[in-house]
Amino acid sequence: MKSKQIRQTFLEFFENKKHQIVPSAPMVIKNDPTLMFTNAGMNQFKEYFLGNSDPKNNRITDSQKCLRVSGKHNDLEEVGVDTYHHTMFEMLGNWSFGDYFKKEAITWAWELLTDVYKIDKDCLYVTIFEGDKSENLDRDTEAYNYWKELIDEDRILNGNKADNFWEMGAQGPCGPCSEIHVDIRNANEKAQVDGASLVNMDHPQVVEIWNLVFMQYNRMADGSLKNLPAQHVDTGMGFERLAMVLQNVQSNYDTDVFTPLIREIETITGHSYGKTEQEDIAIRVIADHVRAVSFSIADGQLPSNNGAGYVIRMILRRAIRYGFTYLNKKEPFIYQLVNTLSKQMGDAFPEIKSQKNLIINVIKEEEASFLRTLENGLALLDSMVVNMKSAGSSILDGKKAFELNDTYGFPKELTRLILSEQGLQMDEDGFAVALKKQQDSSRKASATETTDWTILREDDTQEFIGYDRLTADVRISKYRKVTSKKDGELYQIVFNMTPFYGESGGQTGDKGYLESSSGDTVYIIDTKKENGQTVHLTKNLPNELEGTYKVIVDAHQRARTASNHTATHLLHQALRKVLGTHVEQKGSMVRSASLRFDFSHFSKVTNEELVEIENFVNARIREQLPLEENRNNTYDQAIAEGAIGLFGEKYGDVVRTIKFGKSQELCGGTHVNNTADIWHFKITSESAVASGIRRIEAISSDAVKDFFTEQSKHFDEIKAILKNPTKNLAESIEALQDENASLKKEIEQLLKAKAGNLKGDLMASATVINGVNFIATKTDLDAKSVKELAFDIEREMENLFLIIGAANGDKATLTVILSKNLVKEKSLDAGKIVRELGKHIQGGGGGQSHFATAGGKNAAGIDAALVAAREMV
Ligand code: ATP
Ligand code: MG
Repeated sequence: MKSKQIRQTFLEFFENKKHQIVPSAPMVIKNDPTLMFTNAGMNQFKEYFLGNSDPKNNRITDSQKCLRVSGKHNDLEEVGVDTYHHTMFEMLGNWSFGDYFKKEAITWAWELLTDVYKIDKDCLYVTIFEGDKSENLDRDTEAYNYWKELIDEDRILNGNKADNFWEMGAQGPCGPCSEIHVDIRNANEKAQVDGASLVNMDHPQVVEIWNLVFMQYNRMADGSLKNLPAQHVDTGMGFERLAMVLQNVQSNYDTDVFTPLIREIETITGHSYGKTEQEDIAIRVIADHVRAVSFSIADGQLPSNNGAGYVIRMILRRAIRYGFTYLNKKEPFIYQLVNTLSKQMGDAFPEIKSQKNLIINVIKEEEASFLRTLENGLALLDSMVVNMKSAGSSILDGKKAFELNDTYGFPKELTRLILSEQGLQMDEDGFAVALKKQQDSSRKASATETTDWTILREDDTQEFIGYDRLTADVRISKYRKVTSKKDGELYQIVFNMTPFYGESGGQTGDKGYLESSSGDTVYIIDTKKENGQTVHLTKNLPNELEGTYKVIVDAHQRARTASNHTATHLLHQALRKVLGTHVEQKGSMVRSASLRFDFSHFSKVTNEELVEIENFVNARIREQLPLEENRNNTYDQAIAEGAIGLFGEKYGDVVRTIKFGKSQELCGGTHVNNTADIWHFKITSESAVASGIRRIEAISSDAVKDFFTEQSKHFDEIKAILKNPTKNLAESIEALQDENASLKKEIEQLLKAKAGNLKGDLMASATVINGVNFIATKTDLDAKSVKELAFDIEREMENLFLIIGAANGDKATLTVILSKNLVKEKSLDAGKIVRELGKHIQGGGGGQSHFATAGGKNAAGIDAALVAAREMV
């Protein structure tokens, strides 16, 4: 069965069991501080498990893009080394939110695998949770009893907490699970070793394919378990592993998910897959990583120096390094695989097709820059090795190796390999110590501690009313304390309803305050969105937690932010109009003071284009276009009407569209009622963010007034300095510049003439001491003229010892020039002489043996220096 059909069969099977098919959520997570990337199918439904909001449908199925490279689920080190762990993989899943539980989950999984996919029952094993005393949890006999109806009892194995109690992270929903494993070894191997003994033993042909999780607990901050409001089913099956089983191959990389990429790598590098272990690992790493990186870029996450972007950069660098070391690729090549990937996955995941050019460009540039890093690192390492050898050592200091890694991005594995090729070693312990030290200090800087929510009202679900109102009477549903080094102690408060906009979609959160009936006021310093809830940040809690409060949004800040948000939409429209429809939004930041918009475009936006863009936006402002808002559109309907959505954003079934004239976008942000409220729009900068991505920064409304007031103040100041010229200002300044240039020229000529006279006088003043023509003089010429003068004299006079002391205010310089024959015959050294004489002017210097200079801060010492020079002859 082809992989496309495998995916389709799964979704249709559960659709027939009344599940709604939903698209994969983005792989990069935006509204959850505990998770950077989607690591399991359940992440996008976390708010349903936690009871923060209710699902539209209590049965759902999908294929979710997952990435396991950080946090609790990190498989990076395994990837490529083994044949069944990937960084990015698809997880096929079915969910029940408070609907069916263990019985259906187990029976349906079995039906799909054995009846539909026709996997031989004798290849399958299942595990159930054996219980755990320390957690006070019993054995899952319920699951056992359902399984025993379907499978021989000797194929039902007990599993411990590590394998059979699934947790998303350190905190959050969790529960016992039941896994399904396959044994795809040949008959001979099976006869020799019993498959049951290989389950969960990291055997590449006895692997877990499906995990059925029975969500019933919430792991609290103090480590305890609390029952969730309802019981849920969360299952996840590895799509690539399933393909391996159904396509009768022994490795995920031999399925049609990977073979096109591997053939392409063979073609590009000239190395064949299946020859040597090292090269095979490298080929698998590259085939795997190009998927992860491409999908992240399509999701809007570019490689960068921090956060999720840093993780993506590290994945790509791992692939580059394997290509560099084992496939001998010293030029960018991974980007070339994106075409194959797009052909192969573009139908199931259209984002790969539509963003292909951007992905190619970004990867290519990253490759080029990291390959440069590798070369610089190699040179550095070479010089370290030379020093080591001359010091008679065969072990590279761990701190040095770490510095190479940390400061220059040069990978540790490569350092180790290169050293070992020369019979040298790296001090691994020293490296580990240096690494730990750095990790500890960055962990300390970023550590946050979050207490569990204190829940005042269990049944409250929150309502957002901030599109229509800026104040409301509310009560507190729950609160908790968050402590971090950066922000100190803050409280997060959730109300039953709120007019406050929580930071999301690039728009910053509202500020404001809450007020109790007794007049107690608490400032809300920021608002964030987290797992579908709006969380208000305060420095302290109100005195009374029960009761009602009035909450008030800072209206001025909100109005400025709304102005910038609407301006952002108009800017987006203008860019597509002026530059072309290839322009896609790649990120935005809407604050009250300014806005920022990143977009795909392959060259600098010219000044003429910027003017045109600005004019376009200002024309829409003058047209006084009213806001047309629709809060109840379906996603498909909105897109059909021409609304623009942002890829990598998570949209629900019901979307909101914002329309101003012909600009129409899916957007949850706050906007002005009429474009006239923006008053004016002004671009303040245009720059590059990454290869193929440009950034425009701009301002609107009263920020533009401030901007022009400031500019006109500067203008007046300049006019005043120029004594209010009657000519236009630019001409006056140009005239000044011309005058300045001609004066400079004149001065140069005068200095030359002065030096010319001086040369004659000086040569005449030479005294002969011990056969040396000695000249000493003091001058106020500038450094350049002194040097020219010295060399002129040296060219014309033999056996010369010339010293010039130049004073410039308090500063002093000494210049010594010697005929080259004197340097040899009398073993004189101008460098040594100036260093010695430099003491008189409280300075130091150096140079060559026949010409050297010293600078100091005591001009009064020049005379003494000249006298001392005479003594030296
Ligand atoms: P393993 O023990 O093999 O690492 P897991 O216990 O981490 O698996 P789960 O978290 O239960 O796996 O994920 C559900 C399913 O997703 C697994 O049964 C497996 O088929 C698949 N899966 C998990 N991790 C990966 C990975 N890194 N690459 C490919 N598939 C994976
Ligand atoms: Mg795992």
